[in-house]
Amino acid sequence: MVAQVIDGKAFAAKVRAQVANQVAKLKEENGITPGLAVVLVGEDPASQVYVRSKGKMTVEVGMNSYEHKLDAETSEDDLLALIDKLNNDPAVHGILVQLPLPKHLNEDLVINSIDPAKDVDGFHISNVGLLGTGQKSMVPCTPLGCLMMLRDHHGSLSGMDAVVIGRSNIVGKPMAQLLLGDSCTVTIAHSRTKDLPDVVRRADIVVAAVGRPEMVPGDWIKEGATVIDVGINRIERDGKNKLVGDVDYASAAERAGAITPVPGGVGPMTIACLLANTLTACCRANDLPEPEGLTA
Ligand code: NDP
Repeated sequence: MVAQVIDGKAFAAKVRAQVANQVAKLKEENGITPGLAVVLVGEDPASQVYVRSKGKMTVEVGMNSYEHKLDAETSEDDLLALIDKLNNDPAVHGILVQLPLPKHLNEDLVINSIDPAKDVDGFHISNVGLLGTGQKSMVPCTPLGCLMMLRDHHGSLSGMDAVVIGRSNIVGKPMAQLLLGDSCTVTIAHSRTKDLPDVVRRADIVVAAVGRPEMVPGDWIKEGATVIDVGINRIERDGKNKLVGDVDYASAAERAGAITPVPGGVGPMTIACLLANTLTACCRANDLPEPEGLTA
């Protein structure tokens, strides 16, 4: 079997177009422009790239983008004061604090100081609890993007066996909650899992979120399974820098029914879902109906 490629780049463009459409409608019918504030502390080069591209895409879908760049020595009190200001600013519907933060800042404290209704990353403890209890929440962008692609490919996920490899708070755990919410039978695997190949071979859906280049070989994949590769790993091969996932794409594509590539799979969906979450937060803040198909 040669797997169908799930084109995350094209899917993300479709999601962004849908968001742009809804934003235009909000402006025209309600005079409201959704606003996303992104806070960056320090000069981490990868974070700077992410923040720049988030700002660019926010503007492209017609939303207001507010960038706050603070220097690496910013005190916790100053950062919390900025977040408090953004929490109380009616023009700001979504707040994202770019992680990782410099070591002297308490990440949990900072994230939990964001108004949960504006927490478009879905990392606030209230949103984690709401998702875990199946209630309306802000859903973390990367797992939301994975869920959208899976729903688009399969329609219903009900009754499918899903394995999520990785149990981080930002990907693995929320991904497992979302799959459970869609009535999959979910296994969460991690570094202490016994006989991981056997666990993965049982799965109709494999979500790999480990951070180890190409660690899942094709012969772990059940014939016809759907493989979602969240991993982004920079490696050097044949003297060239390359991005690869957590799945060995070439061998997995020979057995899977469908697979996301790296790059061009989950990555582009993450920013598209950030924009979708900002739109959702704006609609909720204004007691307007939520956009269809853009939330869990
Ligand atoms: P973390 O490092 O926080 O978590 C990695 C998880 O993988 C842990 O739960 C760990 O288990 C598990 N793990 C490590 N080694 C093994 C192993 N040998 N077998 C089974 N499980 C193992 O990573 P993240 O969740 O933050 O990210 C995972 C990957 O996804 C990274 O490559 C990251 O770059 C990428 N990513 C991509 C995004 C995108 O937009 N596409 C967004 C976010 C992340 P344990 O808990 O036992 O240590």
